Amino acid sequence: MFDRIKEKLEILADAAKYDVSCSSSGSKRSNKNKGLGNSDGMGICHSYTEDGRCVSLLKILLTNHCIFDCAYCVTRRSNDIKRAAFKVQEVVDLTINFYRRNYIEGLFLSSGIFKDADFTMERLIQVAKKLRLEENFNGYIHLKSIPGANDELMYEAGLYADRLSVNIEIPTVSGLKKLAPEKDHADFIKPMEKVKNEIIQYNSEKKLIKSTPKYAPAGQSTQMIVGATGESDREIMLSANHYYKNYNMKRVYYSGYVPIRNDPRLPSLSSQVPMLRENRLYQTDWLMRFYGFNVNELLNQQFPNLDVEVDPKLSWALRNPQHFPVDINRAEKETLLRIPGVGLKSVSKILNARKYQKLNYDHLKAIGVALNRARYFIICNSRGWETRDLDSAKIKSLILRNSVGKFRKEYSSQLSLF
Ligand code: SF4
Repeated sequence: MFDRIKEKLEILADAAKYDVSCSSSGSKRSNKNKGLGNSDGMGICHSYTEDGRCVSLLKILLTNHCIFDCAYCVTRRSNDIKRAAFKVQEVVDLTINFYRRNYIEGLFLSSGIFKDADFTMERLIQVAKKLRLEENFNGYIHLKSIPGANDELMYEAGLYADRLSVNIEIPTVSGLKKLAPEKDHADFIKPMEKVKNEIIQYNSEKKLIKSTPKYAPAGQSTQMIVGATGESDREIMLSANHYYKNYNMKRVYYSGYVPIRNDPRLPSLSSQVPMLRENRLYQTDWLMRFYGFNVNELLNQQFPNLDVEVDPKLSWALRNPQHFPVDINRAEKETLLRIPGVGLKSVSKILNARKYQKLNYDHLKAIGVALNRARYFIICNSRGWETRDLDSAKIKSLILRNSVGKFRKEYSSQLSLF
């Protein structure tokens, strides 16, 4: 019995590792007593709660059986792999056992689709419901919304889960058709729409009725695979922007495609995971959400893909020299946020510090500004020699020459496929 559960855990935790929509990262905890729960890092990931706390989660699939055959997925029907399925009670017991041993603070539960969407969603909900109602479990629960699950189930899921997510997987409808022709884009949208509306309703009702039951307090998220199809970065970010705006997503995750098979529709098995591209997309996402940029400023028809050599804010600044130099001691907050090498924290420190004195390079360095980038784009109470006679190409080459460029060598050959 113990061995079978251990085997299921190995299979279903391994299958879950491709889902990055819970900010996964590895964790190793040894079990000195050789008991169940010696995850050796397997199946444990980290996520962020409603109030921004980082928590470690047991990350597993309920099953890796699936009726679908999505080309990009290891769990696809036609793949010849070991299959397993947990019973509802087994997941409940595992979660409680791991929780009591302090290995985890919550559960991330996804699943292949067995029988149909509702049947699978019902079982995911049963796990969460048992944990909450029978085990009085107050830890974090992230449940996968199964595309096509009906509205009643999606409502129920939100009563027990902190976060819900439905992975859009392929950023465009045409890409999805190519790699997962059995799937219907509308089936992804339906649960997203329901969760969004329920969260809005909950937020308005709780103002009037304090006892309104909580609904998915950590909101919803989604994941897109990057590099499986030929979408440009612009298409990916336009799609992400659409989900943020129309479905109130808390987060969109970008997951570089991991080559898993030889298929003429996909990058070859020898191609690399596009890690650097993934990183640049996250930076762009950050600029859109916290720095006031819109997608079309960062990516447009003339510039559909991100510059892998430099970060997207620096890339934008090099293409828009008319906005610089910015006077550190006078500019508005929105303008300061656009200076390469100046982050959110630095901006608030600058705004505060300049009330008392005119800031120079030494002050900016102490504040945490990355002067190796920022100095080409600012004027302050030091001599601004850096901007003299330097065009964008020269500035870029000076910055690159003086930077470590840890990703440069890793620039994925997968990008050149498209
Ligand atoms: S439905 Fe989900 S689990 Fe099944 S093959 Fe497609 S992506 Fe994989």
